[in-house]
Amino acid sequence: MTGALRARAAALAKLIELLVFPSACRLCAAILDEPGERIVCRDCLGRLVPRQGPVCPVCGRFLEGAGEDHPCGRCLEARPAFSFHRSCGAYAGTLKDVVLLFKYRKCAPLSRPLARFAEISLASEPRLWEGADFLVPVPLHRARRRDRGFNQSRLLARDLAKSRGMKVLGGVLVKARNVPPQAGLRAAERERNVVGAYAVKRPDRIRGRTLILVDDVTTTGATLRECARVLTEAGAEEVRAITLAQA
Ligand SMILES: [Zn+2]
Ligand SMILES: [Zn+2]
Repeated sequence: MTGALRARAAALAKLIELLVFPSACRLCAAILDEPGERIVCRDCLGRLVPRQGPVCPVCGRFLEGAGEDHPCGRCLEARPAFSFHRSCGAYAGTLKDVVLLFKYRKCAPLSRPLARFAEISLASEPRLWEGADFLVPVPLHRARRRDRGFNQSRLLARDLAKSRGMKVLGGVLVKARNVPPQAGLRAAERERNVVGAYAVKRPDRIRGRTLILVDDVTTTGATLRECARVLTEAGAEEVRAITLAQA
């Protein structure tokens, strides 16, 4: 077979495969036939709803009940190095399912609908974006990034930055030490685990700047607090933080 013929045969095989095995939503198995649908269908993505209810105005922790926002005990005891953090939803249900696909099943294109969800969720927080200079993704150690193929926080930051007309500052906050994954550790262990894990390269890029840290999931907030501490020590004027979900 010539090269051209082989290429045609391959294209034909691909077409047949698409007709016989059309791609299906990885969550509900519905056929993805609407333009722009990839990996997860529009109906499933429609189940991503921003969380409503009181939060700690500082660390953004979701508070029980239907009362007013009020600072949590932990923030009253010691304020974190970030000025405030906001999370879009509880790490459960569809949001958790989509994040797991995105992060652990190498479904990088899901960063776009997730960033859109974040934008909608955070639209009611104008002071989050006010005067911010850069989005700063929470970095992965390069060994982890190599295994996963991408840094999920960086993709989220990229897509959020695009829609907000902002810039991502990559490679400045780095993970210098490859520590065990936070998942599976208890709160006190998480706290110890991240100390000294992050470092700032080129502090001149962040001196006097207002930064927004971006991460996918927060549990105890240990990672965000440590990243904010390192950035502030390196001269950042203010650090804010956003995450997709809160466990
Ligand atoms: Zn679906
Ligand atoms: Zn708090």
